Amino acid sequence: MSKKISKIGVMTSGGDAPGMNAAIRSVVRTCAYHNIECVGIYRGYEGMMDGDFKLLTARSVNHIIHTGGTVLKSARSAEFKTKEGRKKAHSNLIKEGIDALVLIGGDGTFTGGLIFNNEFNFPIIGIPGTIDNDIYGTNFTIGYDTAINTVVEAIDKIRDTASSHKRLFFVEVMGRDVGHIALNAGVGAGAEEILIPEEDLGLDRLVESLKRSKASGKSSSIVVVAEGDKIGKNVFELKDYIDENMPEYDVRVSVLGHMQRGGSPSCFDRVLASRMGVKAVESLLEGKTNYMVGILDNKMELTSLDKAVKGKSEINMELLRVSDIMTT
Ligand code: ATP
Repeated sequence: MSKKISKIGVMTSGGDAPGMNAAIRSVVRTCAYHNIECVGIYRGYEGMMDGDFKLLTARSVNHIIHTGGTVLKSARSAEFKTKEGRKKAHSNLIKEGIDALVLIGGDGTFTGGLIFNNEFNFPIIGIPGTIDNDIYGTNFTIGYDTAINTVVEAIDKIRDTASSHKRLFFVEVMGRDVGHIALNAGVGAGAEEILIPEEDLGLDRLVESLKRSKASGKSSSIVVVAEGDKIGKNVFELKDYIDENMPEYDVRVSVLGHMQRGGSPSCFDRVLASRMGVKAVESLLEGKTNYMVGILDNKMELTSLDKAVKGKSEINMELLRVSDIMTT
């Protein structure tokens, strides 16, 4: 029989994402609903090793559902990757009387949690919070919907200036390993081309496609480029290449950068985070451990953390086709 859980620790770790506060709020209030205590762990694994804890009540999380970032702060910790660091974290949790953890973060956070569980048999449940949507076992991660809406809004504005000056814009968006943001925001913003890590369009085809687009009567173009696009050139090298090969275009670059992480979470992210927080706490209370909460076909589902970390989040091929057709 697993030990009865009466105090849960919650933390955010890795890259911050809009909606993390809604998830913290949900975890805290679900604990209150079930009459158990909830402790906020500040600065992720760093704070766990420093004993940076604070008891949170249902009222501690008033008025945070609409805010971006994370009130618990986030950090990346090299020390937690050492056995000594994890021992320190474990003894702090025991001292504080914490019986189980809800980890809000990405696959690095989950990997650390799995190692920790393996060493100390400490119950953990993960909630996927990252704007990249790159986690297996969930259709959506917390923060992704807000991020793609932020990107669409930015591209809409760039298009206004692009079309006024007959310019070609390369817009770089986040996504080192997966192109979810580029593909979805690119389709949503009506981009002429979308370059993602999953598909190598090739420079020749890019030039061909831009020429076709110009010949069909378009006087300005937006090309959305994921950071890790397969052509292997960064946006500035892409600009140089087009400058050389299509001198008729006035080419500009816009790197959206960290603004993609910020802002008030969308309604979708707030609701998703609220649902995931409830499922995470109730799963721990049912004695479950080493799972990640995900949303699959609009239902809360558990996937083993091991699978969530090892599995690959696939791009939607149908959307890729839609994007091709829309650029006709
Ligand atoms: P994002 O997807 O936004 O980058 P993430 O959770 O993947 O989020 P990481 O920086 O990769 O972010 O991981 C967060 C923290 O998890 C690390 O700083 C480290 O403390 C811990 N961690 C990651 N990998 C390991 C590991 N192999 N062993 C122990 N701890 C780890």
